[in-house]
Amino acid sequence: MISTKMADEINAQINREFFSAFLYLAMANDAMDKGFKGASHWFKKQFEEEQEHALKFAQYLEDQGAKVEIDAMEKPKGEWEDLLEMFQDALEHEKKVTAWINDINTLALEEKDYATQNMLVWFIDEQVEEEASVEDVIWMLEMSRGSKGAMLMTDRRLGEREDD
Ligand code: MG
Repeated sequence: MISTKMADEINAQINREFFSAFLYLAMANDAMDKGFKGASHWFKKQFEEEQEHALKFAQYLEDQGAKVEIDAMEKPKGEWEDLLEMFQDALEHEKKVTAWINDINTLALEEKDYATQNMLVWFIDEQVEEEASVEDVIWMLEMSRGSKGAMLMTDRRLGEREDD
């Protein structure tokens, strides 16, 4: 059994993961609107992944006998200057998610909640990957800046993203 405080924190994180999903769906829609089908595909994969994160946290709450509470959600931004700004925002967002997960881990350490600490290991590793993959895309976009051909190739490359 986990503490009420821990259940509240994990519930907040479930809602943040769903917000992440909707933010990435908004980015997918804006990328499509700008004609970048590959980037749109990349963000749709990210949209699916964030929902999996939310459900993974929800499953943990259920296993611990705590109730999942869905909250109202903030409206995500819907338009970005270009793909670079979009991915830079995605990186900033993932850094916030990393900090939230670290905060939950700090609470788990304080409460000597070993089960939650163990569950969080997967998410802590996942955040390292999330930030690294977005940084890779930012690097490609910075290298392509000013060249329509390079930008088209980067978009094609983003379109090749598979499930991970
Ligand atoms: Mg996530």
